[in-house]
Amino acid sequence: MKRACIVSIGNELLNGRTVDTNAHWLSGQLLTFGIPTCGVWVVGDEMDRIVSSLTEAAKVGDFIFITGGLGPTDDDLTRQAMADFLGVELEFRQELLDIIEAFFTSRKIVTPSINRMQAMIPKGANVIDNPIGTAPGIYAVAAGKEYFCLPGVPVEMRRMFDDMIRPRLKNRQGGPVSLTERVSCYGAGESIIAQQLGDMMKRGRNPLVNCTVNGGDITLHIVAEAADFETARQMIAERKRQIVGILGSIVYSTEDKTLPEVVGQLLRQKKMTLATAESCTGGLVGKLITDVPGSSGYYRGGWVTYSNELKNRELGVPEERLKKYGAVSEQVAGAMAQGAVRRTGADAAIAITGIAGPDGGTEQKPVGLVYIAVQIGKNLEVREFRFAPLSREMIRQRAALSALNLLRLKLGV
Ligand code: AMP
Ligand code: MG
Repeated sequence: MKRACIVSIGNELLNGRTVDTNAHWLSGQLLTFGIPTCGVWVVGDEMDRIVSSLTEAAKVGDFIFITGGLGPTDDDLTRQAMADFLGVELEFRQELLDIIEAFFTSRKIVTPSINRMQAMIPKGANVIDNPIGTAPGIYAVAAGKEYFCLPGVPVEMRRMFDDMIRPRLKNRQGGPVSLTERVSCYGAGESIIAQQLGDMMKRGRNPLVNCTVNGGDITLHIVAEAADFETARQMIAERKRQIVGILGSIVYSTEDKTLPEVVGQLLRQKKMTLATAESCTGGLVGKLITDVPGSSGYYRGGWVTYSNELKNRELGVPEERLKKYGAVSEQVAGAMAQGAVRRTGADAAIAITGIAGPDGGTEQKPVGLVYIAVQIGKNLEVREFRFAPLSREMIRQRAALSALNLLRLKLGV
């Protein structure tokens, strides 16, 4: 099986300024071709560190991806490091300088002399075109290994991968692969899911099911190793069917869709519209819904009502109810959802009221207590949640996602 290595270059990756998102993105993309990444080196702008990382990477990987250090400044050393590593000279390419000059001319800027450096590439290497920046990439083959040098700027790196490298990898699919696909779940803890899946998650299985948790969102990663791409795909498809059979409605996507996307899809299918009334989540549900392009097709809008006065005036929550049960109560959550439906004419509404903390909790109503109401037509359901009081952010995140999940379940999976 062919394996990849990634070398991420730049001082900013080592001093807390920039997160290495390039390695994260690239390793995910490579897996879709059945190419697992077996190592990532993060190094500063130092020649000997870059060369020694390339040497290490070449020992274990077949495809070596290098990002960063292709800029025009003194600290951009990837070109020279690559030439040293390959044991060749840097070579000036007039056609590259022409492209770089055209890039500046089209912006009515005189090409700075330092950018001439970007027209140099190691002798015998090929150029990977950069359609949106000045730094051309470098492609080299040595001792049966392939090297792809790409700029550090994530948007340029991704575009060059998509345009130039993706088609190349696609054409060459053949031979053993390790493929990973995901099943997304919400509404049960990791240990419950692990228990239900039993042996599927045992080490050494093929396909193997791994699990990662992000708040209440649980992702099952199905990793299949096979002699070819198609066999791996079939193994994964079969395992997905089994997982859905076991976990049922806990599974919200087998195609990498997000919870807001799935909810949007259901609303669209059912030709229904949605409104929101949020208290402790401060508009987060509305934000998540509208992250999805086209959400204006089903989302009518909503309220962020923090004060009792606004809950009463805007949503028609009866004053007596607020006084008798308090703003964080099943009764108020229900009235908020009903008010949102009544005042917008939407087919459905989500309402949330709770205590996000860190202060404001009492013995009866601790931090993490959240009521979520979903009203669909005349049908109202209110649920009480007691989220672990880990942080304000996590309580709000879990409340918003739990509300979307409750709506998903009520709309029918
Ligand atoms: P460079 O290609 O080295 O000139 O990098 C240009 C910019 O891209 C840097 O200043 C960073 O902001 C960003 N960058 C470089 N490497 C990475 C990386 N591995 N992940 C995310 N951003 C990066
Ligand atoms: Mg740099």
